[in-house]
Amino acid sequence: TPSASSPKVCIVGGGPAGFYTAQHLVKTRPDVQVDIYERLPVPFGLVRFGVAPDHPEVKNVINTFTQTAQHARCSFHGNVSVGKDVSVQELQEAYHAVVLSYGAEGNMTMGVPGEDLPGVYSAKDFVGWYNGLPRNRDLRPDLMCETAVILGQGNVALDVARILLSPVDILKNTDITQPALDSLAKSRVRRVLIVGRRGPLQVACTIKELREMVSLPGTRPQMEASDFEGIAKTLKALPRPRKRLTELLLKAAVETPEEKELERRNSAQKAWGFRFLRSPVEILPSADLTRTTGIRLAVNRLESKGEDVWAVATGEVEDVECGLVISSIGYKSLPIDPAVPFDARKHIIPNTMGRVQQSAGLYCSGWVKRGPTGVIATTMNDSFDTARTLLHDMDQGTLDISTVKGGSKEVTALLEKRGVKPVLFSDWEKIDSEESRRGETRGKPREKLLDVGEMLKVAWA
Ligand code: FAD
Repeated sequence: TPSASSPKVCIVGGGPAGFYTAQHLVKTRPDVQVDIYERLPVPFGLVRFGVAPDHPEVKNVINTFTQTAQHARCSFHGNVSVGKDVSVQELQEAYHAVVLSYGAEGNMTMGVPGEDLPGVYSAKDFVGWYNGLPRNRDLRPDLMCETAVILGQGNVALDVARILLSPVDILKNTDITQPALDSLAKSRVRRVLIVGRRGPLQVACTIKELREMVSLPGTRPQMEASDFEGIAKTLKALPRPRKRLTELLLKAAVETPEEKELERRNSAQKAWGFRFLRSPVEILPSADLTRTTGIRLAVNRLESKGEDVWAVATGEVEDVECGLVISSIGYKSLPIDPAVPFDARKHIIPNTMGRVQQSAGLYCSGWVKRGPTGVIATTMNDSFDTARTLLHDMDQGTLDISTVKGGSKEVTALLEKRGVKPVLFSDWEKIDSEESRRGETRGKPREKLLDVGEMLKVAWA
């Protein structure tokens, strides 16, 4: 059990990085007390709001996070926005160490004219919409067009493509929000083009996600055979994961499938395909400027030096008609508090092995530490690394734990004065039960609450 003189660590952000950092700390050091502060009333970050609803197995990590939250020396305080409700400096006064694990809540923009037109969305917002992120509740994307163009060829792009094209019957028993399901049921989108600025050898997705696309019921791959000229010859020299990915891509794009698969493809009503060597130049508006009707793409060629391969515009352009443009070119972290160093070029907190540079007692983990790439397992390892660094500093005495700190008591008092009431893990469990109850009647694992006000009402009922 924690005592007044226990070392106290607080973690900012209740996503995978926050929970894995907390887990390693409480497991490794028997006296440390860890408190997690999370902006939303609900925990788990992108596991709840990013991971696709048809990937329920990925969300099993929630069980481990729940065990951590229920640990005697760990506590969860949702509904607390650090940087706004409480400053990082105030947290540093109340704790021996502060770990920043607040993820990457911004997104890279294309920087082309027309980007703000109706019909153009970031993948981040689109994903937030179908996953019930409160701030994206009112996005209500218009799906009444035939063709959608997705910019970017990573796993998030493929998640979006898959959700747009999946038969609603597959989605209806997932935790996708009901408004998104209703909207997808009426969707007219029949063709999704997944555009990348480089070639087939540079796609950024992994094989699992590509395999899911290739076998997605009711759809067929539709690619340009000419994009794959010479690719088969390169296979031998490729590292194994890239080789397998490229083989699958070739199979979907150019090989004649066996009869059963041919039949399946011929009867498919919807199509998807990669488009390579294209960069966005402009989103084309309708005559009355009220929405998008297409996208102008620059045609690229590749240049390379050693391992590096980059796209160079040829000067040629190509217009593609579409009613929906989704840019999936990356998330980025945002600065949280002026007192915390921030690398505005790399969009991360500058750190050495998780120690925030020139800031004793400040640490970071997860996407805000290394940038918005990598699966949950990558985030786990990186969070364990940060926890190790922190524990090492405690052991070595470079992190001072000799003074008594007020911890969550001090912060809760401060928040109370500011009219902010935290949502504790037991409060979240009430939200969780309510969501499960609402889901049950629809054959879903849960029906997410979409509104922060409603979450708070259920939490404090
Ligand atoms: P996050 O998960 O973003 O957590 C950050 C948390 O900090 C959030 O809860 C946020 O609300 C909170 N926060 C932000 N600002 C503040 C503040 N000021 N005060 C307090 N709290 C704050 N990985 C897989 O392994 N499999 C998948 O299928 C998969 N699918 C993905 C799909 C999408 C669309 C995305 C974007 C990612 C996916 N990932 C997947 C990757 C995985 O989600 C990340 O590796 C992981 O979530 C990163 O963890 P994090 O804790 O750094 O960030």
